[in-house]
Amino acid sequence: MNGQLIEADRVWTGRTFEMHQAVRVGADGTVLEIGSDLRPADGERRVRLPGRALLPGFVNAHSHAFQRGLRGRGERFPRGAGSFWTWREAMYELVASLDPDRFRDLCIQAFREMLAAGMTTVGEFHYFHHLSDEHDFAADSLVLEAAREAGIRIVLLYAYYRTGGIGSPLQGGQTRFSTPSLDLYRKRLDALSEQLDPKTQSLGIVAHSIRAVDLDELEALHREACDRGWVFHMHLEEQRQEIAACREAYGKTPMEVVLDRVDPAATPTTAVHCTHTEGPSMERYLDRGGRVCICPLTEANLADGIADLPTMADGIRQNRISLGSDSNARISMLEEMRWLEYVQRLALERRGVVTNDDGLLGPNLLNIATRAGARSLGLPVGSIEPGQLADLLTLDLGHPSLALVEDEHLLDALILGAADGAIDKVCVGGTWKGLFSQAR
Ligand SMILES: [Zn+2]
Repeated sequence: MNGQLIEADRVWTGRTFEMHQAVRVGADGTVLEIGSDLRPADGERRVRLPGRALLPGFVNAHSHAFQRGLRGRGERFPRGAGSFWTWREAMYELVASLDPDRFRDLCIQAFREMLAAGMTTVGEFHYFHHLSDEHDFAADSLVLEAAREAGIRIVLLYAYYRTGGIGSPLQGGQTRFSTPSLDLYRKRLDALSEQLDPKTQSLGIVAHSIRAVDLDELEALHREACDRGWVFHMHLEEQRQEIAACREAYGKTPMEVVLDRVDPAATPTTAVHCTHTEGPSMERYLDRGGRVCICPLTEANLADGIADLPTMADGIRQNRISLGSDSNARISMLEEMRWLEYVQRLALERRGVVTNDDGLLGPNLLNIATRAGARSLGLPVGSIEPGQLADLLTLDLGHPSLALVEDEHLLDALILGAADGAIDKVCVGGTWKGLFSQAR
C-alpha cells in the first residue's frame, strides 16, 4: 500500500473542525502530518473528500457480537415484565442454538454495522468459546476471522469464565463459555496470539464478572494482563443482584473486592457498566487509575439502571470513561453518545451533564467515543495526529440531517441530531471501507 494524502473540507483536530486540511498517511497506515499546505509527494495517492468532514473513527470498547442474534427477540412480555435475568435466559437459548456458520454470520453482520456507524475499532469481550458440547474453542478463531472479513480493528478481550455464580458450577448454556483452568486459558492466549493479523488485531485479558471467577483467579488474571502488557476488562456492578450475591459471599461489593485485589494503574483496567457503584468506591477506583465503559443503549434495553456519571467527572476529564455497544440490540455510536447525556438529563432534571470544563458537550462526548475507548483498549487510535493510526470516518456534510446547520454547531448537531447515514466512509489503518451513503 502506498502512502496517501487525504484532503477534506473539514478535519476534526481535537478541539475544532479546521477548514481545508490535508492529512498525510504513511504506507504503514500511520498519520504522518496534518496541514493546510501539504502537496502530494511522488507515488502518493491523493484522496479528495469534497463536501466531507474527517473525524477519528469511533472506538466501541465493549461488544458481544454474537448477541446481534437477539435483535428483536426477548421484547415480548407475556408475564407482564422482564428483567436482565429473563433476558439472560433468552441469550442462553440463542447460545445453545448457534452453529459455526450462524455464529460467524452474526459476528460479520455486527462488525459491518459497526463500521457503517463509524466504529473503526471494536473491543470484543469474547466469552462464548464453544460451538458444541465439547470444549472445542471453535468460536475464538471465528471471531477473529469475522473481524478480518468485515475489515474492523479488533481487540479480542478474551474472557475467563469458570463458575456460573460465586462458588457454583456452570449450568446449561453457560457450559459454552467454560474456561476450566487458568493453565488452559493461558494456552489459549498463546495459541490465539499466533493467529492474529498484527496490523489490526490484538488481545486483552478478561475476568467475565465477579460471578465467573474466584478472587485468586481475578488477581492472577490481572497479573497476567500486566505481565503481557495487555489491557484488562471485567463486567462490574451492572445489576443489584450481583452486588447482593457478592456481599453475601465476600462481605463486600464487587468494586471493593476488585480494589482489594487489583492495582488498576498497573495496566489499563476497565470496569464495564458500574451502574450501581457507590460514589466513594467509584472515586477511589478512579483515583487509583481505573477506567469505566458505559453502554447506554444496552443498559436501557436491559433495565439495568442509570450510572452516577457526576461521580465520574474526573474520569471523563482524563479520558477514562468510554462507550460500548454491548448487546448490539442497536449499533450506533451517535446514539450511545446521545443517550449517555440524555439519561442523565432525565435522571437529574438538568441539561449539560457530560460537559467539559469549558461547558462544551460535543467535544467531550466525542472524546469519550474515541480517545477514551482507544486508551481502554491500549491502541494508538482515537485522534487525528501524527503517530496515530489512520482510523477515520467521513461525514457527508450534504446529508439531510445536517442541512442548514451552521459550522460552529456541526459537532453538537452530529451527535444530537444526525442520522447514521451521514457517516459515509471509514478508514482502518489507511485502508478505506465502503461508501455507506450509496446504500441509503
Ligand atoms: Zn457485556
